[in-house]
Amino acid sequence: MTRVDVLAIAAHRDDVELTCGGTLLRSAALGRTTAIIDLTEGETGTRGSAAIRAEEASRAAEILGVAARINLGFPDAGIVNTPETRAALARAIRRFAPTVVIAPAPSPMGRHPDHRVTSELVRDACFVAGLARVASDVPPHRPRKVIHTLTYREDALKPTFVVDISDVFERKLEAVRCYGSQFEGVAQAGEVYPNGEPLFDIVRHHAAHYGSLIRVRYGEPFFTTETMRVDDVAALEVSTF
Ligand SMILES: [Zn+2]
Repeated sequence: MTRVDVLAIAAHRDDVELTCGGTLLRSAALGRTTAIIDLTEGETGTRGSAAIRAEEASRAAEILGVAARINLGFPDAGIVNTPETRAALARAIRRFAPTVVIAPAPSPMGRHPDHRVTSELVRDACFVAGLARVASDVPPHRPRKVIHTLTYREDALKPTFVVDISDVFERKLEAVRCYGSQFEGVAQAGEVYPNGEPLFDIVRHHAAHYGSLIRVRYGEPFFTTETMRVDDVAALEVSTF
């Protein structure tokens, strides 16, 4: 078992890099341990093969500095949330015993059905991971918190918070660039809608937009169901004017 502080879980290889790669880098810079679970091998993707994407994902993982990256081999474009898939994911989550889990956006729409289902599946699996009688061959562990990525989503809720990734943005982009088979010369991917620019520029502009919400150069937005706690209102950051 590799115990980590932050575990990012997503449907497809490259989802994590696009939506929360900067946050994983930031966490690592703060001394936190991190890991990634990809649910599918991307075998139905139009570009590249599952083998090429595996190679790209492991290079990206190195750049992100994660302790481990595993793949559950769920069917691409066919992820379902059932007692079986919840138990399989719960087992994998227990293996890392994370404090915080990063899940896809919680909102109901989105281009790819896997993203929608994965958001719910990750939340449910985190809960189930704490039930001793489910997958009882592995000791239970329930993460303390689930946070949802929001980047690129047109149906996005207002972020609960934004992580400042200014210092690590170029490195995040380097991790995204590992997916040459997916992104080289393209103008659209995943939830990233095309605007005529190369994909890498769109990634930069989204990060700049979310950064502007907290008055920094680049940011990644997140949603939590729980309300954020504040002890000292005089220390609140992000100026109103
Ligand atoms: Zn995806």
